[in-house]
Amino acid sequence: MIISGKELSARLKAEMAIQVATFPEKYGRVPHLVVVLVGDDPASVSYVTGKAKASEAVGIRNTTVRMPESVSEHELLEMIAGLNADDGVDGILVQLPLPAHINEAKVIEAIAKEKDVDGFHPLNVAALWQKQPCVLPCTPKGIIRMLKTAGVEIAGKRAVVIGRSNIVGLPVAKLLLDENATVTIAHSRTKDLASLTRQAEILVVAIGRPRFVTADMVAEGAAVIDVGVNRDPETGKLCGDVDFAAVEPKASLITPVPGGVGPMTICCLMENTIECFLKRCGAE
Ligand code: NAP
Repeated sequence: MIISGKELSARLKAEMAIQVATFPEKYGRVPHLVVVLVGDDPASVSYVTGKAKASEAVGIRNTTVRMPESVSEHELLEMIAGLNADDGVDGILVQLPLPAHINEAKVIEAIAKEKDVDGFHPLNVAALWQKQPCVLPCTPKGIIRMLKTAGVEIAGKRAVVIGRSNIVGLPVAKLLLDENATVTIAHSRTKDLASLTRQAEILVVAIGRPRFVTADMVAEGAAVIDVGVNRDPETGKLCGDVDFAAVEPKASLITPVPGGVGPMTICCLMENTIECFLKRCGAE
């Protein structure tokens, strides 16, 4: 089975649109998401455009603030402070990566925890690891949603996550653990990776290398979630970290790239924005 993140996210966004349509009467306004884009990296521009489009589909007000590549860290922090103080702003997202002269950690920490729709703020991360209420990071949240929607029983399963980044690998491992999977996290220093991944009943791949996971690395019947977004070096087309054509016949389910984890990430961003809005309105 191929899990279409595109279809699932379209369904979820339609449900959210119905919910958001009731907000003006209940709360006097709709949620407002502000996305800050520094510079004009084509991939970042395309992600930001996708977020604006999804907001429009759901009925969330979206403002994209564009700042030049040369913006100073101080100016960016001032802008964030202004957004934090603005009562009409419910969610703030600074598109990463930032130019090298800006300290990303400092910027993430500057965003008010209550408006941190990406779930990257250290206090949200700490809350996640302590099983406290928090804004969940969008990509891991979307992955769990896809597995559950596809009817995958996570509890008791052997899950292997390849990648240990703060935005994908680590939080998805924690969420799988919270769902009672037995989780192993692999990375670039893992020895004999294939023998490990072959034991996985759920395999999440977040490396950033085109078609890295081949059929011999996957167990028959595994659920395979491909987070990678890469350019195929030969065709220039988008492709994942998993060799989809070779792995698909072996997997019980698999996510495609594009159209898998990516759309679900944006969908969860919409959910997080609504969540932050409702909390700020005192609804939850
Ligand atoms: P990252 O920060 O670069 O982390 C990559 C991870 O992969 C690291 O932990 C690294 O190990 C590990 N790794 C690299 N080479 C490896 C190898 N040969 N064997 C085993 N592990 C290896 O990347 P990221 O931000 O997590 O993103 C990963 C991919 O997901 C990228 O393609 C990115 O574009 C994509 N992504 C997609 C979405 C989406 O919504 N679809 C969202 C976020 C990211 P070390 O820690 O040892 O270096």
